[in-house]
Amino acid sequence: MTDMIVANEPLDEKKITLARKIILELQRELPQYIERGSGPFLAAIYDDNGNLIAKEANSVVNSCCSHNHAEMNTLRAAEEKLKTYDLSAHHLKMYVSAEPCMMCLGGIMWAGIKEVYFSVPSKDVEKITGFDEGFKPQWFDEFKKRGITVYGNIETEAGKKVLQDYVKLGRKVYKPER
Ligand SMILES: [Zn+2]
Repeated sequence: MTDMIVANEPLDEKKITLARKIILELQRELPQYIERGSGPFLAAIYDDNGNLIAKEANSVVNSCCSHNHAEMNTLRAAEEKLKTYDLSAHHLKMYVSAEPCMMCLGGIMWAGIKEVYFSVPSKDVEKITGFDEGFKPQWFDEFKKRGITVYGNIETEAGKKVLQDYVKLGRKVYKPER
């Protein structure tokens, strides 16, 4: 049983087909990053011609920095590569192995990303791993207002499997003490 794809625009099969391909690739590669000490999330930014601009995993633990989520690392790499803090003119798409957390939504918005595609929704990330994804009221609508397309729940079964494996490995689920 796969989850229903959700979006903030009428479903576009072409976008979904491409997103499935890229996200499955991220999910296939993610265990290698985890093996090297990364957190269980991977993001990639592509341009309209299918060129990969940046791809980075979560490095909170191995770089000792709470905001080094996969999305933030990928945005930073893309901005450094293209030498701009405003990516909007490049019309870039971000693909990510799980729904962005509250911090990353801010990062994506301020970087000028135009389209976001994610796999595992936050409720499942939280259920499987215990990570806290924050509060994100109506973010699909808020992104739409700002001209940012969002598609979610893409290839969730493969995405959940990577997270389950991460937990089984006994890897760190970092969060601030409360
Ligand atoms: Zn995040």
